[in-house]
Amino acid sequence: MRRKLAAGNWKMNGLVDDLREIKALTDAHPDPDVDLLICAPATLIAQMAWARGTHALQIGGQTCHADRSGAHTGDISAPMLRDAGASHVIVGHSERRADHGETDADVAAQAAAAHGAGLVAVICIGETLDQREAGDALSVVTSQLTGSLPASATAANTVIAYEPVWAIGTGKVPTTDQIGEVHGTLRAVLRDLMKQASSVRVLYGGSVKASNAGEIFAVPDVDGALVGGASLTAADFSPIITALENA
Ligand code: PEP
Repeated sequence: MRRKLAAGNWKMNGLVDDLREIKALTDAHPDPDVDLLICAPATLIAQMAWARGTHALQIGGQTCHADRSGAHTGDISAPMLRDAGASHVIVGHSERRADHGETDADVAAQAAAAHGAGLVAVICIGETLDQREAGDALSVVTSQLTGSLPASATAANTVIAYEPVWAIGTGKVPTTDQIGEVHGTLRAVLRDLMKQASSVRVLYGGSVKASNAGEIFAVPDVDGALVGGASLTAADFSPIITALENA
């Protein structure tokens, strides 16, 4: 019913030389059974789009401004990403929320801008370790999802990524029960917020690697992964894609 999605987030990594990883990845998965997405640094989007050739690999940005254009030095707009060859954009990644003070309202405005430009918004939410230890994980992600989802969201133009902040880049991963509990909660919240809730893909993100991908993908309601470090090379990302294809 929901096509699975293996999404990579290259963050602030990648030079032109690293596009060889795209060639290796597309060669290794010429006709994948899942959707593939790499969210590249803005400097590489156009060249990555060229490097993928006719392969189904999709390319995304990692953030966008809520405005279409204007006096915002250093920012990038959703139409610019689209123009460069992107079909998706991550919004509300915890690193953007922490480093740039982005609020749920900012994220909702960015997602709406993405939709307006014809991009799929990958909306990230997730609790901190303090929030989890205080027993607040479910209320935090419920509040973030409610505040970050714009009225323009549909199942076709929106993906949700549950990324516990304490699991990102740390090697720590929630138990499969914890992941299942959050994903079940998010699905219920989506049902309250929009019509096509059962068709919206909800990814897990946070220290996904080849060795843990299989058990994470077996959790009900996990429709794929948003992968940071392990998406940077084809050697690391390829087995995660295969695990998702086999899930
Ligand atoms: C991320 O940045 O979205 C992420 C999940 O990173 P990592 O896989 O490296 O934990």
